[in-house]
Amino acid sequence: MLKADEVLTIFKDSEALLEGHFELRSGLHSPNFFQCAMVLRYPRRADALCAALVEKMTAAGATTRIDGVIAPAMGGIVVGHEVARALNVKSIFAEKQDNKLVLRRGFKIKPGDRYIVAEDVITRGGRVQETIDIVTGLGGVVVAVAVLVDRSAGLASFPAPTFSLLQLAPVTYEPGACPLCAKGVPIDHPGS
Ligand SMILES: [Zn+2]
Repeated sequence: MLKADEVLTIFKDSEALLEGHFELRSGLHSPNFFQCAMVLRYPRRADALCAALVEKMTAAGATTRIDGVIAPAMGGIVVGHEVARALNVKSIFAEKQDNKLVLRRGFKIKPGDRYIVAEDVITRGGRVQETIDIVTGLGGVVVAVAVLVDRSAGLASFPAPTFSLLQLAPVTYEPGACPLCAKGVPIDHPGS
């Protein structure tokens, strides 16, 4: 099992978690910049992180009789795929159509099917909830929610046990009240 500091090191080594002084897309300033796709671009790191997440879920009894893993596109697809690999079950995804997540490509969920919902990062958790609604709307059962990184600071809650590998509460400042600006630290614009 990967320890929390080892998980953090993998994210930092992958440049998924940067430290400094950043202007976020929201216009707020932050001492951290986080981009989960940067760690998932390394398949073996993605595999190791998702295997650790599945280990954690299995220890809690949340991986029995799973039929498949479903993830919201795009961000969740790689995590869903690697979680499904660790469980040796199928991996499907829901994608946006007319601004709503739907199942396409012949993906099916049968009544009684037991699914894990996987996502890379949650902030408010809206996409995870929308994916849960797809599964339950088709008569399936959401056994657990698996996320690599929980940025909700405990605010996202779902009607199924939720597991994350890393909790990172975002630290942000209004530009006019930013202590890093006050110290004259040069600012980066990583999203641009
Ligand atoms: Zn600043």
